[in-house]
Amino acid sequence: MTNAIEEIRAEMAKAAKIAGRKPQDVSLIAVSKTRTPDEIRPLLSDGQRVFGENRVQEAAAKWPELLADYPDVTLHLIGQLQSNKAAEAVALFDVIHSVDRASLITALGKAMNAAGKSPDCFLQVNIGGEAQKGGCAVGGIADLLTLAQQQGVPIIGLMCLPPADVEAAPYFALLYELAQRHALPALSMGMTADYQTAIMLGATHIRIGTALFGPRSA
Ligand SMILES: *Cc1c(COP(=O)(O)O)cnc(C)c1O
Repeated sequence: MTNAIEEIRAEMAKAAKIAGRKPQDVSLIAVSKTRTPDEIRPLLSDGQRVFGENRVQEAAAKWPELLADYPDVTLHLIGQLQSNKAAEAVALFDVIHSVDRASLITALGKAMNAAGKSPDCFLQVNIGGEAQKGGCAVGGIADLLTLAQQQGVPIIGLMCLPPADVEAAPYFALLYELAQRHALPALSMGMTADYQTAIMLGATHIRIGTALFGPRSA
């Protein structure tokens, strides 16, 4: 095991214990965006099998060779998705975290129906109401969930990227509350800077890049 992954696993267990949760109820997504296959392979050798990418094109270019060697990998799409890439995303990914608008839900429904494959999805919520961020408005969640159900898009939970440079806890707590209100079991929240807090506040999926791979150059 690399030190980084051991350290994160220990931190995850500590945070889960404080919250009275089981460590195995939190999934560690290794965010491998911008990393080359050679940078990813050591983590695969260590047994890590859950990875996150933020671009369909980049993932489609680098993952087929890795998936050939490690067919049990689970790939999560965590970045914004254009409707015209819905079919490609459905083909490549096992989980999609960035569902955030009606047109995308309709496109995903069509793509899933055509492919006969329905990746689990998260509704991404613009939890801080920031103009420049992706995600649906808090007030738009109910309608999008109804549409997803009609279109056969399985939404298992909520995902958020809280505002940068402020305490994330209130945003995580709000996302938890919203998921409870809509009876959604999964919560994708927490990154390198704040994953312990996210776990204490109910995260089921944390998305870690920097703490595993080091700082990104771009
Ligand atoms: C890059 C990225 C992460 C990982 O961020 P780190 O701070 O490097 O852990 C998590 N979630 C999303 C949506 C990202 O784009």
